[in-house]
Amino acid sequence: MMFENIIGNENNKKLFQDIIKENKIANAYMFIGRESIGKMLFAMEFAKAILCIGQEKPCNTCKSCIEFDSSNNPDFFTINPEGNAIKIDTIREVVKKVYEKPIVSKRKVYIINDSNLMTKEAQNSLLKTLEEPPEYVTIILITTDDNLFLPTVKSRCTKILFNKLNNDQLLKILENKFNCKGVSDLTLKIADGSIKKALILKDKEKDYKLIDNLFSNIEKFDIIDMLEKKEDIFVDKEEAIEILEYINLIFFNKVKTNTKYINCMEIVEDTKNRIKKSNNFDMAIDHFMITVWEEING
Ligand SMILES: [Zn+2]
Repeated sequence: MMFENIIGNENNKKLFQDIIKENKIANAYMFIGRESIGKMLFAMEFAKAILCIGQEKPCNTCKSCIEFDSSNNPDFFTINPEGNAIKIDTIREVVKKVYEKPIVSKRKVYIINDSNLMTKEAQNSLLKTLEEPPEYVTIILITTDDNLFLPTVKSRCTKILFNKLNNDQLLKILENKFNCKGVSDLTLKIADGSIKKALILKDKEKDYKLIDNLFSNIEKFDIIDMLEKKEDIFVDKEEAIEILEYINLIFFNKVKTNTKYINCMEIVEDTKNRIKKSNNFDMAIDHFMITVWEEING
């Protein structure tokens, strides 16, 4: 059964099952949705199914399926950015090969990941293929934002929107696929539907436990403790914003019992702005630790 391993986006599953059943496969799709919610996995499953030459698609036993599973299917291609762009040379190569007939399957599939990173020239180069595709080819453009494409490219693709995962779906994925147990509500909340974010948080759970313990119990610590722990928590500027957002959720949960935490949430926002604007990261963090402590204990 296709998509049995995929959690969430039920409407898209149904849509693509129908597309395969009715054999109404388009030449170009654009998969649009936020980062790390399973668009690529979905595209892979779809590719495997339409390349399958067995009865039930995907059958998992035909030559195409077996080669697909071992990443050796000669009719399947994925294109990824090199550095921060997908350049015209990469797309030219695709365009050149696209007219060569499939070898094992009846179709050929190209998945272009982070396709919004195609340069304008690269998009223009792809356009010719999108305008006159060989009937056997399916190109899937994966992107977080469809506004970054030339209108001519966009209009040639069937757009498929992907929804973010809800907390239950995210939890299920973390438990079933990544064997993560005991994921906290706070982790799910801050991951906000992103598998990648949740895994990073999970990875740093020890650090986040420290943050939890400190900022849930500010009244139990003195200012010296706060400033000492600062070193362990705020290691670099890059991560600081995410950590502050996490702290904000802790404060949000505390507002019910103590309205002083509303002010603390304002201090968090203020600190985020300070960090973004100023070069003096250490000073911004010191100021944060002191004002938050004073707000609760002062
Ligand atoms: Zn098969």
